[in-house]
Amino acid sequence: MSCLEPKDFCSTEQEEDVRYKGMNQGALFEDDKKDVEARGSVAVLLPYPVDKAYDYIVPEGLCVAPGDFVCVPLGNREIAGVVWGVGVGDIAPAKLKEIVLRYDIEPMTEVTRAFVDWVAGYTLAAKGSVLKMALSVPAGLTPLKPSRGFEIPAIKDVPEKGLSEQRRKVLEVMADGVVRRASEIAALAGCSSGVVAGMADKGLIEEVSVYNPAPCLYPNPEGKLADLSEDQQAASDELCALVKSGKYSATLLDGVTGAGKTEVYFEAVAQSLKQGKQVVIMLPEIALSNAFLDRFKSRFGCEPALWHSNLTSAQRRDTWRGVAQGDTRVVVGARSALFLPYKELGLIIVDEEHDPAYKQEDGVIYHARDMAVVRAHLGQIPVVLASATPSLETMMNAWEERYNHLVLTSRYGGAALPDISVVDLRSDKPERQSFLSKTLTLAMQETLDKKEQVLLFLNRRGYAPLTLCRTCGHRMECPRCTAWLVEHRRSGRLHCHHCGYHVPIPKICPSCEDKDSFAACGPGVERIFEETKALFPDARMMVLASDTTESHEELKAMIKQVEKGEVDIIIGTQIIAKGHHFPNLTLVGVVDADLGLTGGDLRAAERTYQMLHQVSGRAGRAKDKRGKVLLQSWMPEHRIMKAMAGSGRDDFLSVEAAEREVVQMPPYSRLVGIIVSGRDERLVQEISKQLGRSAPQGVSESGAKIQTLGPAPAPMVRLRGKFRYRLLVRADKAINVQKTVRAWVDSVKVPSTVRVYIDIDPQSFL
Ligand code: ADP
Ligand code: ZN
Repeated sequence: MSCLEPKDFCSTEQEEDVRYKGMNQGALFEDDKKDVEARGSVAVLLPYPVDKAYDYIVPEGLCVAPGDFVCVPLGNREIAGVVWGVGVGDIAPAKLKEIVLRYDIEPMTEVTRAFVDWVAGYTLAAKGSVLKMALSVPAGLTPLKPSRGFEIPAIKDVPEKGLSEQRRKVLEVMADGVVRRASEIAALAGCSSGVVAGMADKGLIEEVSVYNPAPCLYPNPEGKLADLSEDQQAASDELCALVKSGKYSATLLDGVTGAGKTEVYFEAVAQSLKQGKQVVIMLPEIALSNAFLDRFKSRFGCEPALWHSNLTSAQRRDTWRGVAQGDTRVVVGARSALFLPYKELGLIIVDEEHDPAYKQEDGVIYHARDMAVVRAHLGQIPVVLASATPSLETMMNAWEERYNHLVLTSRYGGAALPDISVVDLRSDKPERQSFLSKTLTLAMQETLDKKEQVLLFLNRRGYAPLTLCRTCGHRMECPRCTAWLVEHRRSGRLHCHHCGYHVPIPKICPSCEDKDSFAACGPGVERIFEETKALFPDARMMVLASDTTESHEELKAMIKQVEKGEVDIIIGTQIIAKGHHFPNLTLVGVVDADLGLTGGDLRAAERTYQMLHQVSGRAGRAKDKRGKVLLQSWMPEHRIMKAMAGSGRDDFLSVEAAEREVVQMPPYSRLVGIIVSGRDERLVQEISKQLGRSAPQGVSESGAKIQTLGPAPAPMVRLRGKFRYRLLVRADKAINVQKTVRAWVDSVKVPSTVRVYIDIDPQSFL
C-alpha cells in the first residue's frame, strides 16, 4: 500500500486500540492516579524486543505520570524506560520491583507514545523495539555535565598591580565579560591554559560552569529571505497557510529538478518556527548534503541539528536531549529522525519522498515516508512530501485528492531542463571491452572543450561485477551469499557487496587450477574510470561511490571540489545522482540505462525511471548553460527510455498505475513479505512449508481477496551464511492484513534457530 491514506488511520483495530489506551494515559493525571495509588504500580515500556509494558511499583514520595522517563531494575541491571500507563495488575504485587528513579527531563508526549504504539501495530514489530528507536540515546536522559569556564569576578579583591604580561593579556581578553573555557581564553591571549588556571587559583579570575547550548537553539525565521519566483511564492503561500491552520494535512510538493523546492518548504519551516513549533526535515543520504546545510544556515542563521548514523555519541546525546526538552528547533536527518521524542513537533518535511532509502530493512521494518504521514496525522500537523519524481503511491494520493498537490513547473532562475536523448547501443556499439559509445565520447569531448563538466553515471561500485575463469567458466561467488564477487582493482580484492566478505584476487582458478585465467566481465565505476582516463588523459577525473572514501568528511570534501569546478569528469554511483547542484555540469552520460530493469521487481520500472530522472536533473542547472543527457541503452524502445526522452513523467506513471491495477498490485492492494531465515536449510524449508500450509488464502464474506504465494527460495537464497525462503501475501485493501498475518505467523511454532521476518509493504523482494 504505502503512503497511507487518511482512512488508514482509523480503519484498523490497532488504531482503536491505540486510541483507547491513549485516552487512558491522558487521564492518569486525575482518575487513574487513584488507581495507581490503589494498586501502587504503573506499566513501564522498556526498549527491548517485547511487546508488553511491565508493572513496577511507584515508591513512596515519587510521583510519576505516563510519558515519564524512569529507571527500573530488570534482572540484575537498571535500565531506562517510559511509563506507558497504569499497572496491568497481572503479577502479584509482592513480586513487583520498585522504580529506581524518574529522570529530570520532559516526559515523552502522548503523541509520541501513540506513534510508538501505532508503528508497532502496523509493522507487527514489538512495541519495545519501536520504543528503542525513540529512546535511542539513554545518555541524553541525564542533564549535561557542565564544563569549566572563567570570568572576571564582579568584586575584585586581589590587586592587579605587578601582573605578568601574559596575565595582563588574559584580563584584557576577558574584559568583554564573556564566559569562556580556559583553552579558548588561552588561544585568544596567546598563552597556555595553565596561565588561566593559575590566575583562577590566585582569585584573579573566577571559575563558573558553562553548558553547551542545544543544537539549533535559535534559528531565525526572519533570516535572509529568498526572492521567490511567482510559482514558488504561490506554493509557499499555500504551505504557510496549511502550517498556520495547525491541522493535519499532507501535501505533495512536486517540481522539476532545480525548481527550488527547498526554498519553498523553508518558508513553511519558518512559519512553523514562528508558531513556536519544532520541525523535522528528512533527507536521504543526509550526511552528504553540504550545500543543503549551507543553504539552511544562510536562511535561518544557524545550522540545523543533524541526525544520522555518522554522528559522535556526544552529538547524538545533545541533539536527543535538545529535541526532548524542546530546545532544539529544527532537525535535519535520515529516517530515524522521525522517531526522536519531539516535545512540540509542528511540521514534517520528507524531501525526495520517492527515495528507497526511506525503507528500513532490518530491526523494525518500516517506511519512514509512510510513518511520517502517520506521525503528522497523530499529531494533527502538516507533512510535506517533496520530489521531482514522486512515487506512484504518493502520486495516486495526489490524483485522488487525498493529498494537496503543489506543482513547480520550471527550473528556478530560467535554467532550461536538459535535452535528453537515448543512444542505441545496438547501432552505436562500443569497442570490445569498452563501454562508452562514440556518441557519448564525442559529446564528452565537446563539453570538455567548452570547459564544462561531465558526469558519467553507473550505479555499480568496483571494477567489474563478475569475475570468470576463461578456461573453465568458473564464476567467483561469495561463500556466504547468493552473489557474485565484485572485483575492486584499487584494493586488489574481490568483494561481496552484501556481507562485506572479501579475498585477494586469486592467481589460480579454484576450480580448474589454471593460472591467470580470470577475466573481468561487465563494468563498474573503476573500469569506466580506466576507459575514460585512456580517452581523456589530461582531464581531471574523480570516482565518487560510497566506498571510494574512508570517511564522510572526505566524501563531502570531494563533492565540494566538484562544486568548485576542480574536476572535469565525475564518474559516480547513485551517491552523486541526487540533490546536488553543480552549475558547471552540462553533460550527463548514463553508461547503462537498462541496469535495474532486470530482475522483475514490482517497482523496477518506477525505480529506474526515478533514478534516470534524478541523475539527468544534475545537468544544466545554471541559466546560461543548457544541459544534455545521453542514456546508453540496448532497448531504446522501452517505455522508460521513451518517457525519459519526451513522453513525460505523468504519462509514464499513468501507464505504470494501469499495469498495477490490472494485476491488483500496490498501490491497489497490500503486500506482506515473509522471510524465513536460518543456518539449517532443512529447518528453514520445514518452517516455510508449515507456514505455506496454513497461509491466508481465499475470499472474505464481503468479497475481499487474499492470496499467499510461496514458499520459494528467496532470489538471495543465502545471505551472510543464512538460508532464506520467502512467502508473499497479497491482500485487497479492505482486509486487515496485520491481524491476519499476526494470527497466521503466531500459529506456527518456530524454533529459536529460525527467524521469521514480517515485512509490511515490502520494497525489496530479494
Ligand atoms: P530542487 O530541490 O527543486 O531540485 P533546489 O531547491 O535545489 O531545487 O534549487 C535549485 C537551485 O536554485 C539552488 O541552487 C537554489 O539555491 C536556487 N534557488 C531556488 N530558488 C531560489 C530563490 N528563490 N532565490 C535564489 N536561489 C534560488
Ligand atoms: Zn556475501
